[in-house]
Amino acid sequence: MSSTEGAPQDVIPAQLLKGQKALVTGANSGIGRATAIALGRAGADVVVNYVAGREEADKVVEEITSHGVRAMAHEADVSDEGQVVAMMDHMVQEFGTIDVLVANAGMQRDSAFTDMSLAQWQKVLDVNLTGQFLCAREATKEFLRRGVVPEVSRSAGKIICMSSVHQIIPWAGHVNYAASKGGVQMMMETLAQELAPKRIRVNAVAPGAIKTPINTSAWETAEARKDLLRLIPYDRIGDPEDIANAVVALASDLMDYVVGTTLYVDGGMTLFPGFATGG
Ligand code: NAD
Repeated sequence: MSSTEGAPQDVIPAQLLKGQKALVTGANSGIGRATAIALGRAGADVVVNYVAGREEADKVVEEITSHGVRAMAHEADVSDEGQVVAMMDHMVQEFGTIDVLVANAGMQRDSAFTDMSLAQWQKVLDVNLTGQFLCAREATKEFLRRGVVPEVSRSAGKIICMSSVHQIIPWAGHVNYAASKGGVQMMMETLAQELAPKRIRVNAVAPGAIKTPINTSAWETAEARKDLLRLIPYDRIGDPEDIANAVVALASDLMDYVVGTTLYVDGGMTLFPGFATGG
């Protein structure tokens, strides 16, 4: 891979998040996996949440601990209130607190609109939106209980919501997913407004097209890749590390004055690339 392709994986300052405790949901695959590893590389102790696939979660834990920090896997369905509460209790018991929540778990259940079942609609809303609500609520309770610890961070806590360019780009055939991410945007901004006076920073990262299992069909064949690249001015498909690097930066005190923002990490996908030659 040439230096202009792919995301750099070794650019993170090792002590950037030293002493901080992070929870990443859906961390045994794709973006969550890369993010959990990047947070560990930056010096944080990390809880690797997963809903299925213990083996992959254990591998992520192993990779994180190789950076000299602590990590543990925790199975929980983010859309289940009891399981989220128990996960946060477990984290506080083991790590003492939480400083960074990356509400990343998400899924697609695609369908043409009139064929979409209520179950498909509900499942995606439950995981992508309600799951983030539940995790954010439980993390916030702990941030408020503990308050700011200046030696650890200037803020009492950071929440990073994993959104998508589809929080603003409509997406035919994916109405459940697009609606869930539109919801994430307004939830994030409302929480940011409500919690900023408590020194809690809430922001979102909105990935464009990133090579992960969620969207294999969009990049696995040469033809699909060509179609996809038409939508990406920067002319490369993203890697999970592109998102992980952005999350680490947002979580750190380098970004202490960044509140209620969506950071689009999309190679320019939201720049209306069709207008580069049309319009
Ligand atoms: P992925 O399928 O590799 O990862 C999704 C993760 O979420 C998996 O670990 C999965 O097990 C977990 N998950 C699903 N349901 C869960 C539940 N109920 N409880 C706990 N965990 C659950 O896909 P990814 O691309 O890494 O997606 C991660 C996030 O990034 C999602 O929120 C997705 O919407 C978002 N995103 C991805 C892209 C992309 O191009 N890959 C683009 C925009 C946004």
